[in-house]
Amino acid sequence: MVRPQNRWSREARRLLPALRAWRVAFHQEPELSNEEVLTREKLLHALDGLGVPTRTFGSYSNGVVGVIQSDRSGPVVALRADMDALPVVEETHAPFASRFEGRMHACGHDVHMACLLGAATLLKRNPGRLRGTVKLVFQPAEEEGGRGGALPLLERGAFESPRVDYVLGQHVASEVPLGAVGWKKGALMAAPDQFEIRVRGTPGHASTPHQGPDAVLVAAEIVTGLQALVSRVRNPVDPVVVTVGTIHGGTRHNVIPQEVVLTGTVRTVDPKTRSKAEAWIRRRVRMIAGSMGASALLRYRHGYPVLVNDPAATQSVVDALGRELGPTRLVELHHPGMGGEDFARYLERVPGTFLRLGVGSPSMTASLHSPTFFPDESALVLGAVTLVTGALGLQATGGA
Ligand SMILES: [Zn+2]
Ligand SMILES: [Zn+2]
Repeated sequence: MVRPQNRWSREARRLLPALRAWRVAFHQEPELSNEEVLTREKLLHALDGLGVPTRTFGSYSNGVVGVIQSDRSGPVVALRADMDALPVVEETHAPFASRFEGRMHACGHDVHMACLLGAATLLKRNPGRLRGTVKLVFQPAEEEGGRGGALPLLERGAFESPRVDYVLGQHVASEVPLGAVGWKKGALMAAPDQFEIRVRGTPGHASTPHQGPDAVLVAAEIVTGLQALVSRVRNPVDPVVVTVGTIHGGTRHNVIPQEVVLTGTVRTVDPKTRSKAEAWIRRRVRMIAGSMGASALLRYRHGYPVLVNDPAATQSVVDALGRELGPTRLVELHHPGMGGEDFARYLERVPGTFLRLGVGSPSMTASLHSPTFFPDESALVLGAVTLVTGALGLQATGGA
């Protein structure tokens, strides 16, 4: 049995007051995607206090990139934390609950930022341990879902000069126990695509349905028909989710409406399945509507790519974490989750891995995005250690 070294964990525990203060500051004043102006100010202030030079991106992005360089040459590792909050009314009753009505850090991005500032502190205090450069990437608009916040940063060269060799990130996860870290090679998260279907029929009196196609009935057929993709078209061992999230149509019980609008999401973890699913849905919607004499207009919007962890980089990080924490605190995940994450865009460009920071406990049953989601603060210490250890692990195996 390998004994944990706890090199970083002891020092990180002493950082808890600072980690807590950062988390409180972010949590109290949550900002929505692409509105993270106050958050950016707080980050700049904190990084300035740590003596970390920073780069900002004006009105193009609210992101902040800090650079910690060592005297020794070595790989450049980017560590990423997301910055944005959600339009959720907080119900945690925490003493530092959101001061901004209807906004909440319900996805733990406040924790991610505090952990990354903690990692920066540890690295600045131990310059001799670094072999190369660490870039601290604070990224806005992860929740935005369309272009997201990673793409604008990449477009403005956040991963250039110096060029990033590896990328590491993490997200709090209730399905992993508090004190543990979840990891997985290959696909970890899905491509979350969206669709909108406008079904048009013939409006009229509810007592004369024979006079034209009924958009409500056609919409119902489409909702049911789309599930055949999951049950009969995709390979049973290749996960696909199709969910219709909204249906809007009609004004009265005795009026057949002209139009019904459906919106939903399609999630896949294999790029080939992703494009097959889109083509199949297009065909299926057209066929169902056509066979009932109605028309259907489908808009299909691609979300973030599938998040694929590089196997070798993941192994380097897992080995380093195992030495630091002991192997029992590492949890290998065997199935991808069907959520999306724009960290996938970094992994399309450079190898790296995305970890799951455990916050699950008997008292923490709330899921991400819920009004009572409230990770335990001990996750802050582990999150800072995970980033530092993982970065040094990647540098040690990556060569110059
Ligand atoms: Zn989220
Ligand atoms: Zn999130």
